[in-house]
Amino acid sequence: MKTLVWVEHDNASVKDATLATVTAASQLGDVDLLVAGSGCAAVADEAAGIAGVGTVYLADDAAYENALAENVAPLVVQLMGDHDAFVAPATSNGKNIAPRVAALLDVVQVSEILSVVSADTFTRPIYAGNAIATVQAPAGKLVLTVRGTAFAKAEKTGGAGTVQAAAAGGDQGLSTFVGSEISKSERPELTSAKIIVSGGRALQNSENFHTLIEPLADKLGAGVGASRAAVDAGYVPNDYQVGQTGKIVAPEVYIAVGISGAIQHLAGMKDSKVIIAINKDEDAPIFQVADVGLVGDLFKIVPELTGKL
Ligand SMILES: Cc1cc2nc3c(=O)[nH]c(=O)nc-3n(C[C@H](O)[C@H](O)[C@H](O)COP(=O)(O)OP(=O)(O)OC[C@H]3O[C@@H](n4cnc5c(N)ncnc54)[C@H](O)[C@@H]3O)c2cc1C
Repeated sequence: MKTLVWVEHDNASVKDATLATVTAASQLGDVDLLVAGSGCAAVADEAAGIAGVGTVYLADDAAYENALAENVAPLVVQLMGDHDAFVAPATSNGKNIAPRVAALLDVVQVSEILSVVSADTFTRPIYAGNAIATVQAPAGKLVLTVRGTAFAKAEKTGGAGTVQAAAAGGDQGLSTFVGSEISKSERPELTSAKIIVSGGRALQNSENFHTLIEPLADKLGAGVGASRAAVDAGYVPNDYQVGQTGKIVAPEVYIAVGISGAIQHLAGMKDSKVIIAINKDEDAPIFQVADVGLVGDLFKIVPELTGKL
């Protein structure tokens, strides 16, 4: 089987989400990559070095600079003449592009796979991760998105892919990129951080996030996350949100501070290797998934913990 993997990048370098997607795709067969972007030749060269890849199709055109699904999907469909499966990471961009590709190919999409059982059968989470469904795709081209935390990352080097220009379809004229507001952070990106410190509603305001959560994260070299309650209350930006409607993470260590452990939050972090919970309510559901639990007032415990590290 020939697979085509959509490369997540920022026109400068390959994003980690791509690597787990390559691993998933390689379990189906030969892996080709698509780098669609603007001024992104360096990304294609980097992608060609990923272990196990064959052809890297480079579509370098202003129309692809911001990964607008309306422009990228027709390009993918064109390349699907030679491929049996389209595989994208289940990132915001991947989730935007893949279903459009599936509809244009008139096939179903299998979303957010956790494992490849066979060439047409996959496991995927349903009901906020409380059940794992094994699903068989009908015959025809496959369109898959991949949960990055469920697959090991392919090696970034050692590959011998060849870069080939893909005929760009250009701007479809259906959508326009207006602007973006990226939250700037020196800390590790949430989905690739080894340690995450997350705060919930109990932090009460953004000031407490700065004075309590961030120093602890900095001591540990950790990324900072949050519950939806903390995001909705404006303590931190949206892209900090961990959970069903936020980011799915599986770090080595996840520290949940003042988070109750609602099912929608657990859906985003319960595959973490070690979960540490700090909560004053000993009956909080978070303690059911925590490996280490501290019952007490976060305003006392967190500064003490940070001080001792
Ligand atoms: C469709 C849908 C999607 C959702 N998606 C998400 C999602 O992606 N991510 C997400 O997080 N939520 C999501 N939610 C919301 C979710 O249901 C919860 O409302 C939310 O996770 C609660 O956030 P919290 O734990 O911070 O707040 P709370 O539930 O209010 O919990 C606060 C906790 O802090 C503890 N506490 C209070 N004071 C202290 C103190 N001084 N010291 C120590 N502990 C203290 C309390 O005991 C309590 O357990 C979703 C909901 C819906 C309906």
